[in-house]
Amino acid sequence: MLKNFLPNEHVKSVFEIQPDILKEQGIKGIITDLDNTLVAWDVKEATQEVIQWFNLMKEHDIKVTIISNNNEERVKVFSDPLETPFVSHAKKPLGHAFRAAAKAMDLNKEEIAVIGDQLLTDVLGGNRAGLHTILVVPIVQSDAKITRINRSIERRILNYFRKKGKISWEE
Ligand SMILES: [Mg+2]
Repeated sequence: MLKNFLPNEHVKSVFEIQPDILKEQGIKGIITDLDNTLVAWDVKEATQEVIQWFNLMKEHDIKVTIISNNNEERVKVFSDPLETPFVSHAKKPLGHAFRAAAKAMDLNKEEIAVIGDQLLTDVLGGNRAGLHTILVVPIVQSDAKITRINRSIERRILNYFRKKGKISWEE
């Protein structure tokens, strides 16, 4: 079903996602993608801006878990300095990693937002798991090889939604 590819929200960057807005929506936890959502896919460590965003969430008692389809080393090197739990080899859009993260955060579905830059993994997986989904614009346009195929499919789905008037944002 195409509607599973439709995010609940769309923002330019993860930094637009702020604790007060999340709290108004009853969100107490975030499951976020890593590559091209928090940093460019080829950047190894969190930037100052990412560190500040994680600290802000912590100050407001909003739990954050990183789930990524990338390998353990990549995700661990990024997540450990932020002292944030992570799931690597997540196999998104399959549901297992989303359910495991929700359970570890001890939150209900309604209390979790999923953030990511890809419709075919982050948004589809989040929607199917019954979570609130927020699509962000990818940080860089270049991608790992496998993602390029997903991107061309994604473009067609976004164009379809745009034609149907389901989304209004411009790229
Ligand atoms: Mg990504």
